[in-house]
Amino acid sequence: MASTTGSERARATLAYLRRKITTGEWPVGSRIPIEPELSEQTGVGRSTVREAVRSLASMGMLETLPGRGTFVRSSAPTSTLLNEFLNDFTLEEILSYRRALEIEAAQQAALHRTDEDVAALEQAAAEEVGCTRCPVLGLAAGSDNSAFDSKFHRLVFDSAKNRLLASLYAGINDQLRTPEHRGRLANVATGTEMERDHARVLDAIRRRDFIDAVHAMVDHVDHDVVIVNDQHEVVPPLVRTPAQQQRIDDARAAEDARVEEDSRATAGNAP
Ligand SMILES: [Zn+2]
Repeated sequence: MASTTGSERARATLAYLRRKITTGEWPVGSRIPIEPELSEQTGVGRSTVREAVRSLASMGMLETLPGRGTFVRSSAPTSTLLNEFLNDFTLEEILSYRRALEIEAAQQAALHRTDEDVAALEQAAAEEVGCTRCPVLGLAAGSDNSAFDSKFHRLVFDSAKNRLLASLYAGINDQLRTPEHRGRLANVATGTEMERDHARVLDAIRRRDFIDAVHAMVDHVDHDVVIVNDQHEVVPPLVRTPAQQQRIDDARAAEDARVEEDSRATAGNAP
């Protein structure tokens, strides 16, 4: 790197360290090599290494504990940077972005899921039975659901096999915790609706049907987390005409019948 400028060296050092973290070579919780070693590995001065470590710390990926060393805290720069960025947007904008992420994740999950992913989703769906609402934010004020966290939704993102989607989703959920606590968000899907919605999403992912996965997730996110206005009224995210609602209800009924049939067939095949 002899002929490169200082800022190029700094960028390359930052990229080198970040890659170690994002590839898992330095797993979350592990201690990274000390400064002189990193300086040796990268061929840059210790002050450049220190600067890169500080940048990664400000992104929440590393944490330096005096006298103990520097530890990997997160494999993605979710919290600090993203949350500062999201602070400039309205709750409506953030929820609409969340909606886009959920729908894309459902689609990618149908394409990329493994059998282990399906088993994990089935398990999460089974654990939710009897919940009073979709624990999508993992808060569920006062919650009998908190133990479930947003497991089903997180597993959909895991199944999508896209680290960027998953880490943006984690950032969005962090960002929604404050408005949730302030009562600005409500979860309007009942437990029964949530179970049915999740069953449809799961069924589509299981069948690797990315079109059904999208439709099932659209239907779900439009009533799982919604905004509550200053008059304590729920603001519907999308207002549909009666004809549009009828189409959705018909599709839902057809899908329910199919899920029912599938589960009967599975039960029939059981030993
Ligand atoms: Zn849900």
